[in-house]
Amino acid sequence: MITRLSSLFVRTLREDPADAELPSHKLLVRAGYIRRVAPGIYSWLPLGLRVLAKVEQIVREEMDAIGAQEVRFPALLPREPYEATGRWTEYGPNLFRLQDRKAGDYLLGPTHEEMFTLMVKDLYSSYKDLPLSLYQIQTKYRDEARPRAGLLRGREFVMKDSYSFDVDDAGLAASYAKHREAYIRIFDRLGLEYVIVQATSGAMGGSASEEFLAVSPNGEDTFVRSPGGYAANVEAVSITPPAPVDASSTPAPSAILTPGAATIDTLVEQANQFAPRADRPWQGSDTLKNVAFRLTWPGGRSELLIVGLPGDRDIDLKRLDAAIAPAEATPLTEEDFAANPGLVKGYIGPVSLAGDAVVAHLGSEAATGVRYLVDPRVVAGTAWLTGANVADTHLIDVVAGRDFTADGVLDVAEIRDGDPAPDGSGGLSLARGIEMGHIFQLGRKYADALGLKVLDSNGKLVTVTMGSYGVGVSRAVAAVAEATCDDKGLAWPRALAPFDVQIVATGKDDSVLIAAEQLAAELDAAGVAVLLDDRKASPGVKFADAELLGIPTTVIVGRGLADGLLELRDRTTGERSDLPLEGALARIIELVTGS
Ligand code: ATP
Ligand code: MG
Repeated sequence: MITRLSSLFVRTLREDPADAELPSHKLLVRAGYIRRVAPGIYSWLPLGLRVLAKVEQIVREEMDAIGAQEVRFPALLPREPYEATGRWTEYGPNLFRLQDRKAGDYLLGPTHEEMFTLMVKDLYSSYKDLPLSLYQIQTKYRDEARPRAGLLRGREFVMKDSYSFDVDDAGLAASYAKHREAYIRIFDRLGLEYVIVQATSGAMGGSASEEFLAVSPNGEDTFVRSPGGYAANVEAVSITPPAPVDASSTPAPSAILTPGAATIDTLVEQANQFAPRADRPWQGSDTLKNVAFRLTWPGGRSELLIVGLPGDRDIDLKRLDAAIAPAEATPLTEEDFAANPGLVKGYIGPVSLAGDAVVAHLGSEAATGVRYLVDPRVVAGTAWLTGANVADTHLIDVVAGRDFTADGVLDVAEIRDGDPAPDGSGGLSLARGIEMGHIFQLGRKYADALGLKVLDSNGKLVTVTMGSYGVGVSRAVAAVAEATCDDKGLAWPRALAPFDVQIVATGKDDSVLIAAEQLAAELDAAGVAVLLDDRKASPGVKFADAELLGIPTTVIVGRGLADGLLELRDRTTGERSDLPLEGALARIIELVTGS
């Protein structure tokens, strides 16, 4: 069937939508692929739906190829299974919860581990039934705090999620490896430039986990790479702690006056002014900065936390979030400070001086009782310039392990370009990416919580071990648009384009439209998906729309027709060339099929 622009349900827009920041978001709306309904919620128009279907098909083929079987669960789910695993609460405000007319609790599925686990428990009972991999391509719901960039971070979005079921760890490793290979093929076919990085497992639980990130300056994720091939999401980077330091010649802590030194810069300035050191000036990395947060767990329990780290580094809030999930951290309010007079804003430190004695001030051992975790760089023997818990006063020579002991380590400082790589191969380099897929070895967490056991070959009941694997299907539409678009519009790779060829008929002459119709019919008969611009619009408007819509190949039927010539335009390279009418059909088919 030939699709004609004169009747296709689409309106291209000249103006960018007011709420859009990213090029892909602006262009998908302007080109008539999607329409916004509410924040993070979009409708798909015919053009967009065709692209979405192509992504789904690629994902489906590759999942089928590893022997995974397609199923589909409802999006509307009962509370009980999610209560059993703790996720009804742990998922926090991101979960859409609702009630039916009988006041029964329901949710809109954000991910389906519970449902798949229960389904397999219902139907299978023997090791002979395993290994098993099931998947679905389905709409998911998450009440994201910051729905962003159109389809990239929706509150309703399409995900492919699959789950593997094995009797033992070796089986899980094999299922994981198969999925990893399938993901490589999927993202290769989508034509994305991507990296596979070590990841944290977030609210999902479990151990081994990797993400597939599309490399993009507009991505929300930051990842690192080392010269030796280490690659990780910054959230998953664990820095290598330096060796302990000999502090035997470091004097006992002493106080220095630092009036109004509430920032690291003024602190360093004042320390150099009032307590200069003979060997070298004070600098930010000599200071121990103590940042106070309130941690709140889903369900409402909350606790104060103080994080100590070298003053020349900031806390990376995404690393912090990942490290403390499912709790959330918020900065201390004025009321929190008022309720905790021991925490002197701007002057918080691990110890205080009481006369000549050094007294623990932070940590479970101290009078404040406030939990105190430090950066891994704060190793035993390191000496710090830090707050004295008295206004306008700091202490020098406060030695870790001698003067204070933290409750533990929290590795959440920002990672910088050039920081030493954990694999020891040199400096890390940072870049940004869009998370396209995520694979996890879940292990037995869900099977344990929901009682999924099978009989093993010795007739013994064993708990099944699981993997969970996601692909952002609707996100992929936006990520590919983002990677390929230019200032004129979208520019789809052949594998995803809603049509193979756009035929643009220009000029008022009837013969032009007749020739264009005929070429369209012949291509259509040959199985080429054709979009025919048969509108009564100026050539300028038609060319601009062709560039905006981003079909890979445009064939122009117009002025040259009298001389037996068409024009061919490649959307991606911008190349234009004459196409003799004679043999045009074969040439276009060759272009489209690549053979
Ligand atoms: P993110 O870190 O981006 O919030 P996530 O780690 O919460 O994602 P997973 O639970 O791993 O996401 O979901 C699997 C895949 O689903 C992700 O890799 C991503 O491609 C996609 N995805 C997740 N959240 C969204 C969303 N809000 N909108 C569109 N796609 C999403
Ligand atoms: Mg993820």
